[in-house]
Amino acid sequence: MTARDFQPILTDIVHTLTPDLGKEGQVAQYIPALARVPAAQFGMALRTCDGHEAAAGAADTAFSIQSISKVFALTLGMREMGEYLWDRIGREPSGTAFNSLVQLEFEQGTPRNPFINAGAIAVTDRLLNSCDPKAAMLDLLSGLAGEPVHFDEEVAASEAATGYRNIALANFMKSFGKLDHDVATVLDAYFHHCAVSMTCRQLARATGYLCRDGLHPFTGQPLLTDKQTRRINALMLTCGTYDAAGEFAFSIGLPCKSGVGGGIVAVVPDTLSLCVWSPALDATGNSLLGRRALELFAQKTGLSVF
Ligand code: GLU
Repeated sequence: MTARDFQPILTDIVHTLTPDLGKEGQVAQYIPALARVPAAQFGMALRTCDGHEAAAGAADTAFSIQSISKVFALTLGMREMGEYLWDRIGREPSGTAFNSLVQLEFEQGTPRNPFINAGAIAVTDRLLNSCDPKAAMLDLLSGLAGEPVHFDEEVAASEAATGYRNIALANFMKSFGKLDHDVATVLDAYFHHCAVSMTCRQLARATGYLCRDGLHPFTGQPLLTDKQTRRINALMLTCGTYDAAGEFAFSIGLPCKSGVGGGIVAVVPDTLSLCVWSPALDATGNSLLGRRALELFAQKTGLSVF
């Protein structure tokens, strides 16, 4: 399939979902700056491995990428540290909420995987050993998107002001001796990572290396090895969509990562990367219409890793 074949599919999905805009689901409430985002918005964009793009709906509206940033933090961590990264972070689906404290206590401060909050906080702590994680994130994402990407400082401040659970998670890990750096410094970087603002079109480009064996979508230079890239895709498939990863694998069959800002990125290895966005979330914390859009995309294209 070429990008020309994908454009009518994306346009068709937007037409199908438009009547449902704003009818179901709820915008994330626990971060005040996100609770103010109008629910009735939807956008979608993709980029093929050979550089063709297709987009529909609000594909150029910026939104808070939230936990999608965990994919890029992990990418920085793998690139900077190799296997050392994994000393304090597991690779199993959690089966508990993304911000759960219970499991962390049972497992003595070692997070189940890098895509739950505790895991991303641990990755950020490790990044502080070798770089400035805030600058490294913007640098990585601006290069991958092909244009400057910024933090939404209002969202970062809103998270810092109300991030009681994340503050608890970080202190908990620190109490187990599983964070090297000062909790406030680690959390400042983590909150800023979540508060990156990007569009569907930018995220479809930025995830391009995940469908190209780790090669940068614009320069063609290796960002990660093909083995590291396969591992990120494996983690996205098994741990990328909160407690709905089994359902996503069952009904969509692609590595995905979602965020509470309503974005979901998905990867079709060797073919394309895509991003859908709609702010209203379902009960599992995934974008309700974003998930439907991915199901329709998988049905209409027959694309799947299985
Ligand atoms: N910033 C959010 C938090 O730390 C990210 C949650 C998410 O998107 O899963 O709670």
